[in-house]
Amino acid sequence: MGSESDIERILYTESDISKRVSDLAAEISADLSSSGGSLVFVGVATGAFLLIADLVRRISAPITIDFIRVESYGSGTESCGEPRISCDLKLDVTGKHVVLVEDIVDTGRTLSRLISYLEKKGASSVSVCSLLDKPSRRKVEVKLVGSGKLYIGFECPDYFVVGYGMDYAELYRNLPYVGILKPEIYTK
Ligand code: 5GP
Ligand code: MG
Repeated sequence: MGSESDIERILYTESDISKRVSDLAAEISADLSSSGGSLVFVGVATGAFLLIADLVRRISAPITIDFIRVESYGSGTESCGEPRISCDLKLDVTGKHVVLVEDIVDTGRTLSRLISYLEKKGASSVSVCSLLDKPSRRKVEVKLVGSGKLYIGFECPDYFVVGYGMDYAELYRNLPYVGILKPEIYTK
């Protein structure tokens, strides 16, 4: 387990992702330059580590970067219960414009939990940039804060995907593309 032979099909290639991340960075830069104030990019660990790295290298405005960790998945493919913040921010986000960087929005529970947490911490706006969105699986509406906007890389069909930061049992994160994991890997 953990090798490329476990991938059924590639959905987004390295070059698809790179082009889309450039577009997202340009969109975010244009929106944020008009918002004024300090910007904090917060990556949701571990899944967003590649997206945040690629995104911030395409943004020239002065920004700060932090990570937050939420646990909801265990090692399966379905989320279980209310997500719990298991590793907190280092930076103070009071009065700051926050861009939460996530790998994928599925039921929406993780993001909703994080957005309300950042709002309670006093962020003046919360935007979300997620590489993937699976709208067909949404259980909870994702409500942004203040002038916050939603930036989505690709609308993803309802498959369990791995790569470009996303895992199954902590493996496959280092694949440079996003692919569908063969179901026999997680139904064994
Ligand atoms: P939600 O709380 O929206 O249901 O789940 C969000 C989290 O579940 C994502 O941050 C991601 O870690 C995980 N997740 C949801 N769908 C997938 C998927 O297809 N593949 C992987 N690897 N993780 C997923
Ligand atoms: Mg995640």
